[in-house]
Amino acid sequence: MKIGMLVTGGMDSTALLYEAIAKGHTVYPITVDYGHSAFAKQEELVLWHIEKLKQGSHRIKPLKVINLTFHNFQRYSPALFDLNYKCDEKDPLNEYDEIRYKKSLVEGRNAIMVLYAMGFCASLELEELWAGYLYAKEEWEKRLTVKLLTGDNSPQFVDTMNILSLMGFSHSVRFRAPFYERRLSKADVFDTIGRECDIDYSKTHSCYFPIPCHKCDNCLLRDEIFLED
Ligand SMILES: [Zn+2]
Repeated sequence: MKIGMLVTGGMDSTALLYEAIAKGHTVYPITVDYGHSAFAKQEELVLWHIEKLKQGSHRIKPLKVINLTFHNFQRYSPALFDLNYKCDEKDPLNEYDEIRYKKSLVEGRNAIMVLYAMGFCASLELEELWAGYLYAKEEWEKRLTVKLLTGDNSPQFVDTMNILSLMGFSHSVRFRAPFYERRLSKADVFDTIGRECDIDYSKTHSCYFPIPCHKCDNCLLRDEIFLED
């Protein structure tokens, strides 16, 4: 099958990339530069894995970089766009004032990125577009208190994107989150897929910021996995 894949250089989308190639799919990796300071690091790592996969497979296509200018109109998020941002708060993404995760909130980010990527996939008449969204049990048991500020990696989000895919495009691309469908957590992705596909996770970057802060939710999840291993 020909699939587009949203990749960020993080553990989850990297694992999905390796697994898709191992299963014999033809993959068109897509990454989005929305002006965030961590992009250069992310792109470098994505390209490293693509080069590695190319040595064993002709099914991995060149990286498509989509440029978006979210930073032109955001209320918040200066941290994500500021190369010189120093993360000195206890938890930079968890301020319990007017809005949570203010320093990482980019309005419309996932929805717009997915639709843009869908347009790219439709132009190539690809069958599916995949994202590495994970299943997090606690988010669904306490969904109003844990995260899900925008719900933009939820099953409902995936369904809604699929409805949009049926309209506005001449070719409908099915949007899927295979890890979520299989209820795989970050630990599952690390253990199972990492070992099966021999993935070098040291060549991944999870933090919202260019230098891992070890304070944000992405860092904490990642650090937990590496400490347990
Ligand atoms: Zn971090």
